[in-house]
Amino acid sequence: MSIAGNVGLADLPRICPLISRRVQTSVGSDETRVVTVGEVQFGGGHPVVIAGPCAVESEEQTLAVARAVKAAGAEMLRGGAFKPRTSPHDFQGLGVEGLRILSKARRETGLPVVTEVMDPRLVETVAEHADMLQIGSRNMQNYPLLVEAGKSGKPVLLKRGMAASLCEWLGAAEYIAKEGNLEIVLCERGIKAFPAGEYSRNVLDLGVVPAVKKETFLPIIVDPSHATGVASMVEGASCGAIEFGSDGLLIEVACDEPGAIRPKCDAAQAINPRTLENIVRFIESRGASRMWRKAHVV
Ligand code: PEP
Ligand code: MN
Repeated sequence: MSIAGNVGLADLPRICPLISRRVQTSVGSDETRVVTVGEVQFGGGHPVVIAGPCAVESEEQTLAVARAVKAAGAEMLRGGAFKPRTSPHDFQGLGVEGLRILSKARRETGLPVVTEVMDPRLVETVAEHADMLQIGSRNMQNYPLLVEAGKSGKPVLLKRGMAASLCEWLGAAEYIAKEGNLEIVLCERGIKAFPAGEYSRNVLDLGVVPAVKKETFLPIIVDPSHATGVASMVEGASCGAIEFGSDGLLIEVACDEPGAIRPKCDAAQAINPRTLENIVRFIESRGASRMWRKAHVV
């Protein structure tokens, strides 16, 4: 007898048939579906590095970070224009003005942009400026938002809820897929588990990377910044994620030259562009790891 609502991995073919590897057998058992954003390919065998500020705080700051991450070898730009903050009194992001700044950064650097959308009513507006929509951890089970993101036709970066099981996470992805949108990339960003908060912000669950690959053909990336919350841990967490077969990384970066302004948001976890370059070099040095599955375009 099972407790109502209590689901396990055995239930995945029923919960998420559209993205379940066990149901969708046309995708080979060792293949990942390729999700394309501009010229960037997730799941294509080469891990994608997305980097940028936590929040778009000003045009000057965003353009400076965008140029720095491009120079360091990142392939995509991140940055929040709408920020989910614990306190409503804290900086909430620049909103639509932030989206315009991101568009400008894309024009200047050529890097495709991923940015968070928190409100189903704003999906269209954010989609006008973004190359990929980010659904944040706090909104992983915001079903109306998932449906709108699915309808937008844009690729979606779906972060794992901070206390979500794999079943809940893949169930959320299925909401997007059900709208006919399979352009989904999953992102592990650390979970609330003992000892989260003691020496790291969250607990990075690297074991979920191979588990995701076993259950679905969707690509998965790792966010070492929110997972650890500590800048000095980000490089190690990034390398570990790559060793576990992650299809990419989502990393927060801040410029640190003399006179640079300290970020308003998540300053303690921002790495500098030189550390980002080390991570990019590590990925290049690893070449095509045996952990990275063959690409498959559905
Ligand atoms: C972010 O990536 O900007 C973010 C807010 O992360 P998360 O939703 O994982 O907390
Ligand atoms: Mn952040």
